Amino acid sequence: MDQIDQARIEDEPLLLTPGPVTLSARVKRAMLHDYASGEAVMQETIAWSRRYLLDLCNAQGTHTAIPLVGSGTSGTEAAIGTFVPPNGKLLIHTNGVYGDRLVEIARRIRTPYTSFRTAPYTPPTAEQFAAAIAADPGITHVMVVHCETSTGILNPIESIAAVCRRAGKGLLIDAVASFGAFMLDAKALSFDAVICSANKGLQAPPGLAWIIAKKSALEEAKGNAHSLTLDLWDQNQHMDRTGMFRFTPATHLLLGFAEALREHAGEGGIAGRHDRYRRSWRRLVDGMRQMGFRTLLEDEVASPIVTTFHEPLDPAYSFKALYEGMKRRGFIIFPGRLAAANTFRIACIGVVTEDDIGRALDALEATMREMGVAGMGRI
Ligand SMILES: *Cc1c(COP(=O)(O)O)cnc(C)c1O
Repeated sequence: MDQIDQARIEDEPLLLTPGPVTLSARVKRAMLHDYASGEAVMQETIAWSRRYLLDLCNAQGTHTAIPLVGSGTSGTEAAIGTFVPPNGKLLIHTNGVYGDRLVEIARRIRTPYTSFRTAPYTPPTAEQFAAAIAADPGITHVMVVHCETSTGILNPIESIAAVCRRAGKGLLIDAVASFGAFMLDAKALSFDAVICSANKGLQAPPGLAWIIAKKSALEEAKGNAHSLTLDLWDQNQHMDRTGMFRFTPATHLLLGFAEALREHAGEGGIAGRHDRYRRSWRRLVDGMRQMGFRTLLEDEVASPIVTTFHEPLDPAYSFKALYEGMKRRGFIIFPGRLAAANTFRIACIGVVTEDDIGRALDALEATMREMGVAGMGRI
């Protein structure tokens, strides 16, 4: 039986999308308080959350956990702006929309960068990273997306980190989609920064980004940031000194966040959450294949976070009708994010169980039948 609080507002559809995700009732209830900025309960909430996140990635002593108000993207922008000095250079890997967004951030905030692209449906290799690093001696930092949400592919972070360690380059990891469901060991990977958001695998309300930053790298980053609000060095020193944010804290979100972390711990931490997502994903992929759908990725390179499916070729099919039919039956799904392929995506994160996925499969089959889509195997 799943040890999660599934109670949610009735009549609202379940979000099978890669963020925002459906939250438990206890996380939503935890936000029903008005606290002032400096109150002890807020300081304790923040301090406890920082410690929990460091414990989650074996980062005590070497790293610090820094919260920011904003979505996951503000966390990636803050990390790029703070860690890469004006005389440094960032190598950005991309194999999807979120990697492309990192390139766009570097361009917009005028961070010196270079980028390289690998195929979207197969993971990059350590050799490709080593070659890209060797090609430009000016490179000081490397940035990579862990789970690329536009396809669901999982990039091989251990071997990429090993290349960066050998070459002496700082490593920044966009773990917005994967954090909370995958172990990212700070000591083993020795990353400069892991960026996560409150809202995906941590199942907290959207609006907070967190950066797990290596202390020694952060000390060297003083004065780098292009932005006052996104200066991680400044935010961290203020947090360490006062226990509070520099500017108005998102008090309600922080309360919801801490409750979501307690829920995470109660579910068995990373292992428990990963197992639930994986069971849901297995049920989803097997059920969809039985109906004749094909996944964009091979199972070996796929993550249990989000799965991309090819759309049926039948002219009776339209994503809009699928979306509307699923919504009427209580589920929200997402369109694909790739220009090249006609796809749609179903995520397994949030307070979603294997049983929910079973019901979603029934809803999808009923919707396809309603649309009159044929030629998808059983349909
Ligand atoms: C969702 C996501 C982001 C961006 O997060 P926002 O909260 O939408 O700003 C960045 N990277 C990855 C891999 C994501 O999945």
